[in-house]
Amino acid sequence: MEKKMEEIVCIKAGLLIDGTGREPLKDPVVIVKGNKIAEVGKESEIKVPENAKLVDLGNLTILPGLVDAHVHIYGRRSYGPAEEIITPHDLKVIRAVEDCQKLLKAGFTTVRDVGSSIALSLKRAINEGTIPGPRIFAAGRPISQTGGHSDIHYLPREEVLRMGVLLADGPDDCRRAAREAIRDGADLIKIMTSGGIGSEKDHPRYPQFTVEEVKAITEEAHRVERRVASHAEGAEGVKIAVLGGVDSIEHGFFLDEECVRLMLDHNVYFVPTLCLVEVYKKAMERPYDMPPWRLKKQEECIEAMPKSFMMAYKAGVKIAAGTDYFGPPMRAHGDNADEAITLAKYGMKPMDAILAATRNAAECTGVLNVTGTVEAGKFADIVGVEGNPLENMTALKKVRFVMKEGKVYVNQQQTTEKS
Ligand SMILES: [Zn+2]
Repeated sequence: MEKKMEEIVCIKAGLLIDGTGREPLKDPVVIVKGNKIAEVGKESEIKVPENAKLVDLGNLTILPGLVDAHVHIYGRRSYGPAEEIITPHDLKVIRAVEDCQKLLKAGFTTVRDVGSSIALSLKRAINEGTIPGPRIFAAGRPISQTGGHSDIHYLPREEVLRMGVLLADGPDDCRRAAREAIRDGADLIKIMTSGGIGSEKDHPRYPQFTVEEVKAITEEAHRVERRVASHAEGAEGVKIAVLGGVDSIEHGFFLDEECVRLMLDHNVYFVPTLCLVEVYKKAMERPYDMPPWRLKKQEECIEAMPKSFMMAYKAGVKIAAGTDYFGPPMRAHGDNADEAITLAKYGMKPMDAILAATRNAAECTGVLNVTGTVEAGKFADIVGVEGNPLENMTALKKVRFVMKEGKVYVNQQQTTEKS
């Protein structure tokens, strides 16, 4: 065991985009010792240890392991409202395990799960080596007001309470709910400060929770060094969340200038989940089993989303890539590079889109000290893709090599061993 930890690997590739924002490096060499990156540099400048095992990735572009800052891993496979109750829990878990494998194979070595009661156990299973998967940073049960976005209103009340959500009303009750989430082992707290698309009886415009309620939650979370992420689609919900002290705004489909100013002033991260605009457009052609109320609200967002995103981007709000994928067609795990691709498609500079899915998503998650860039001292989370994503972002979907913490999970290149 001890000996294995000492293994030294020398990775060679065609190009390195290291996730710091620096210019890409040609003919890079990365020396990995055990689970960490020991050295990074030009082939001509690095002295490769004699006992290093060579992994020659040829022309591949290497990047930091990708990070998705907004996922739900809970084994859904459809949009049908009934799926929640007609799918046995065990089946959801088995599918969720498959989703973890898909994420890792797609180059995602870290994800922030913002609401799934399964994710906390998936995280443990991955950390103990039972199943392969990304490093999971999980919110567990999300907190919603009664009748709010995660009080799944299309289901009978008894079903919702079994579903793994926390309902809270009033500041004291919100404080209790936050403490319960922390007791569950949540790495962050997820709250809902506006209505949403997938909730039947509300609307993105409708604010949820009051500033006082949000403050009670953020205070509890921050006391134990947890961050708070808020689902906030409409402008009112965004303002309540920021004034209540949250650390990131999720979705923000209908931002106004005040929202943008508040996010800047409070140094809040924005996770626009912009790839959903493409999903909403496709759903107009093929809606799968989406109920009519969902389709109607999706359509209402299509125009606003790119505008809101661009307003925040131009103003300099910190943006992290998150897909909000949860398993069904069009939002399947494994396609999570869609967010970086969509950010670039709607006007983000390619390098910024890559940073959104690496450095920024890691910073937003709170794990930039261990991953998110290819730099000495960090975990050896390294992805190799075919082509140069700076020239064509879809290269991020041509993943040919995945290393997480020094362990290789995908390697479709010829490798030469030297010892
Ligand atoms: Zn979500």
